[in-house]
Amino acid sequence: MGSILIRNIRILYQTDDGTRTLVRGKEMQSVPFIENAWLLLDKGLIQAYGPMSTCPERADEMIDATDRLVLPAFCDSHTHLVFAKSREEEFVMRIKGRSYEEIAASGGGILNSARRLQETDASALLDSALQRLEEIRSFGTGAVEIKSGYGLSLESELKILRVVKELKEQSNLLIRATFLGAHAIPIAYKQNREAYIRLVTDEMIPAVAAEGLADYCDVFCEQGFFTPEETDRILEAGWKYQLKPRIHANQLAVSGGVQAGVRNHAVSVDHLENITEAEINCLLDSNTLPTALPSCSFFLNLPYAPGRAMIDAGLPLVLASDYNPGSTPSGNIPFLLSLACIKMRLTPEEAINAVTVNGAAAMEWSDRIGSIAPGKEARVIITRPMERIDYLPYAFGGRHIERTILPS
Ligand SMILES: [Zn+2]
Repeated sequence: MGSILIRNIRILYQTDDGTRTLVRGKEMQSVPFIENAWLLLDKGLIQAYGPMSTCPERADEMIDATDRLVLPAFCDSHTHLVFAKSREEEFVMRIKGRSYEEIAASGGGILNSARRLQETDASALLDSALQRLEEIRSFGTGAVEIKSGYGLSLESELKILRVVKELKEQSNLLIRATFLGAHAIPIAYKQNREAYIRLVTDEMIPAVAAEGLADYCDVFCEQGFFTPEETDRILEAGWKYQLKPRIHANQLAVSGGVQAGVRNHAVSVDHLENITEAEINCLLDSNTLPTALPSCSFFLNLPYAPGRAMIDAGLPLVLASDYNPGSTPSGNIPFLLSLACIKMRLTPEEAINAVTVNGAAAMEWSDRIGSIAPGKEARVIITRPMERIDYLPYAFGGRHIERTILPS
């Protein structure tokens, strides 16, 4: 990428000198900005920014952003976007009255996706995932975490993670890979869960690590899936291979998953629809980041994580999409911002912080993404004409992103 100079920016948001790496509690109420600004990108990096009175004169590409806002591209720290097929038939079953847990118990849900994934070859998985990455780029996402977990066998888990490795090479999005072999107990192991857990800890984790396929190890620590004790064993096995933990917890019930995440030094604990004061206090005493997934609550018609209470308690809330075929068939971050504001009572500034600065922290890439700071990667969004960021969550469902610039 040659140099790009964006001029006449109505408001440049999330300006930073490189020190804004995580915001918590009341700090989340504000997003630093400059009005009538310019931003210079070169060599794939943010070079400089300032008010128009100091604007440089030339660059390889000049963009006029009159009436438009510029923000750091969104950081989506939780997705499952490599999958074989969408599951709209289960969507219709739910409309007709069956619960997500009932559908899962009868071979639908995650097991349905696992069966279809086994039947799909890697090139088809790669093509559909590349399309999804282009789709989320158009919604403003510049960095994304992708989990395995629809394999549930050694061969299929490796297949997904090899696809993610290929995505890292072919896509301009910045990608983190997470091994989620402990997503569900496959039907073949229903009577012998111990054997599946040993497959995960003794065979899958070493094989994933040997090929350098994952940055993290995740567990679905949830009623009907994996217990906190099983979660401990799997995360400890991951640590032995330098796979840091990040976990799914407290989606369907208070599962003990938050405490399991904190005691295993998880980077983040995600979902948190069911959380009590004990979990909030546990998180306050830790470096583990709480991540809410409001699009999942919307789609399943379930309660939302109490994001307002978590921020009021002083926590650094993260928001992510959970893009997956079963519970969140969307990676649309602007719509997620609307849900966060309307359903969780976050302010627009809090919601933007949760998907930029804090999203970057949840991917352990605060040095590369999440704010407009010299030296960070040139991953920025130019909006359509609008007055301020409040418009993004307010005009829900609209097409707000004119262009997402990413390093080529
Ligand atoms: Zn998930």
